[in-house]
Amino acid sequence: MKNYRKELTMNTRQRYQLIRITDQVQQALADSGIQEGLCLVNSMHITSSVFINDNESGLHADFLEWLEKLAPYSRSGYRHNVGEDNGDAHLKRQIMGREVVVAVSGGQLDFGPWEQIFYGEFDGCRSKRILIKIIGE
Ligand code: ZN
Repeated sequence: MKNYRKELTMNTRQRYQLIRITDQVQQALADSGIQEGLCLVNSMHITSSVFINDNESGLHADFLEWLEKLAPYSRSGYRHNVGEDNGDAHLKRQIMGREVVVAVSGGQLDFGPWEQIFYGEFDGCRSKRILIKIIGE
């Protein structure tokens, strides 16, 4: 069995940002040479997410609006915000998830028809990492 590991570095210009990373993951899969297996993609930080959904800007705006209603940045009273201001970002990340696992078939990410992989940043404007781990043969 082969294995392959790669990190992507993200550095968003905005505090909140949803970024499509399907092409970078597909490139990592091509570099791995693995034809059949599993591909894990996870955020290495506790205030950002990796998730799969539709590549549609209206939906992305809806996600951000919905998350802001659930965990408003400006709400006072986050017990985590002692010397930090990212209590909301931890909650947003928990809702949107840490990682995705995608089947690898015939050297391709074996997606449903509209699936794309996204990085969700909820406390950005600094360097953060995504881990890609692929196992198979
Ligand atoms: Zn924090």
